[in-house]
Amino acid sequence: MRVLVISDIHANLTAFQAVLEDARGQWDFVWCLGDIVGYGPDPNECIDLLRTLPHLCLAGNHDWAALGRLDVRTFNSDARKAVVWTAETLRPDNREYLAALPTTFVIGSYTLVHGSPREPVWEYILDPLIATLNFTHFETPYCLVGHTHTPVVFEMVTERGDTEAQLPVYDRPRSLNGRRQIINPGSVGQPRDSNPQAAYAFLDVERALFEHRRVPYDVASVQRRMAAIDMPERLVVRLEHGW
Ligand code: ZN
Repeated sequence: MRVLVISDIHANLTAFQAVLEDARGQWDFVWCLGDIVGYGPDPNECIDLLRTLPHLCLAGNHDWAALGRLDVRTFNSDARKAVVWTAETLRPDNREYLAALPTTFVIGSYTLVHGSPREPVWEYILDPLIATLNFTHFETPYCLVGHTHTPVVFEMVTERGDTEAQLPVYDRPRSLNGRRQIINPGSVGQPRDSNPQAAYAFLDVERALFEHRRVPYDVASVQRRMAAIDMPERLVVRLEHGW
């Protein structure tokens, strides 16, 4: 089975469509690591499109925030404004869809979460130390995470638990060598690694190959839709810089 691994679509339909077009015919199933909504102008459209695909999806902090499950005072003011708009815009059936998403999913050799195995909705795995602390919180060899919007592989390189961060090499399938790893495919709809292109990944389950990918999309058209609904300027501008 070939899996299309995506995360952090963040209501950016144009980026999501670009990923599906780029990946067309190359996968059997979608694993989505959460934050379908929040920040972007197309929350219902993104959920509708995801629901047409064979997929499983995890809950992200923005999905929960849009449902009123989180205290949005922990969000910065721009993110809070986006949460309020998203909550008002979501259709009831799409709210129900988000409400039913699990926070952790274990399938074969993989544990899937939005943030981290230790704190599935909240924690950011930003560096090897945080990754090291999380290896004791899942039992499978591999864990797939999103949330930081940065494509990366954290690999445990010694029995003691020393962990190394590896930047992705794009378009080159990387063999999962049996050493424990926490892998982030990056963000479809709001990359934050100074590269504005949409990020996603392929996982070949039988051959244990993981491949990071990037694809450009029409950022300006998303920015126009965001401006039309009066999204904060900072959220509009960041898309073209990828931060
Ligand atoms: Zn996110």
